[in-house]
Amino acid sequence: MGRTALVTGGSRGIGAAISKALKAEGYEVAATYAGNTEKAEAFTAETGIRTYKWNVADYDESKAGIAQVEADLGPIEIVVANAGITRDAMFHRMTPEQWKEVIDTNLTGVFNTIHPVWPGMRDRKFGRIVVISSINGQKGQAGQVNYAATKAGDLGIVKSLAQEGARAGITANAVCPGYIGTEMVRAIPEDVLNSKIIPQIPAGRLGEPEEIARCVTFLVSDDAGFINGSTISANGAQFFV
Ligand code: NDP
Repeated sequence: MGRTALVTGGSRGIGAAISKALKAEGYEVAATYAGNTEKAEAFTAETGIRTYKWNVADYDESKAGIAQVEADLGPIEIVVANAGITRDAMFHRMTPEQWKEVIDTNLTGVFNTIHPVWPGMRDRKFGRIVVISSINGQKGQAGQVNYAATKAGDLGIVKSLAQEGARAGITANAVCPGYIGTEMVRAIPEDVLNSKIIPQIPAGRLGEPEEIARCVTFLVSDDAGFINGSTISANGAQFFV
C-alpha cells in the first residue's frame, strides 16, 4: 500500500486534480471538502477516492477528521493544504467579516491542517507538506487584501516549517498558481476574463488544474527530499516585481 495523502478541498477544482494525480501515483488519498456533498459523492463515485467533510477553519473538526482518516487509511505522510476561498472587495469596502472568513479558512486553516499531523511526521522521520498559495500572495492584488495576506502568510508558514522539519525528514513547500481554469476563476465574468485577465498572461491562456497537480506530485515524491522551503510558481510567465 502506498503512503497516505490528505488533500484539503480535494473534491473539486485544483484539489480534485491533485487527489487524482496522487492516486495515479499509487498513494492512498483522502480528499476533504466543506459542504458540497453532492459534488464530493460524485467525485468518490468517479474516482474511488474517499471524501471527508470538515471545516478547515475549525481546529477541533480538523483534528477529529484527521484522526478518522488515519483510522481508515493509516498515518498521513503527505499533506496538501489546498482548501481556500475568496471574498473579494476593494479595501475601502471590505468588511471585517470578509477579512476574517478568508483568514480563518486560508491561513488558520493551513495551521489546523498541518498541526495535528506534525507530531506523527516528526516521530516517523518523514513528511511531505505542500501548501497551495497563489501568485496574488507573491505580488498582491487590488480587491484581494484579505486573500493576498493569507497567501503571502502561507509562504511564511512553509519556509518556517521547512527549517523546523528538515532534520526530521519533513519537507514543506508551496506552489503558487497563476490563473487556473476552476470554478473559482470561471466565476469571474467572461468579458473580464477575456479583456483583462488573459491578456496579462504571456502564455495567452488559463492554466489547467492538472498542471498544478504535477508540481505537487513531484514535491511529495521521495526524490524531492532536498527541496525544502521552496516555492514553485506556475503561472504562464506572468512575472511580477
Ligand atoms: P475551488 O473553489 O474550485 O474549490 C475549493 C475547494 O476547497 C472545495 O473542495 C471546497 O469544498 C474546499 N473548501 C473551501 N472552504 C473550505 C473550508 N472552510 N473547509 C474545507 N474545505 C473547504 O478552488 P480552486 O480549486 O480554484 O482553488 C484551490 C486552491 O488553489 C485555493 O487555495 C486557491 O486559493 C488556490 N488558487 C487558485 C487559483 C485559481 O486560479 N483557481 C489561483 C491561485 C491559487 P466544497 O466543494 O465543499 O465547497
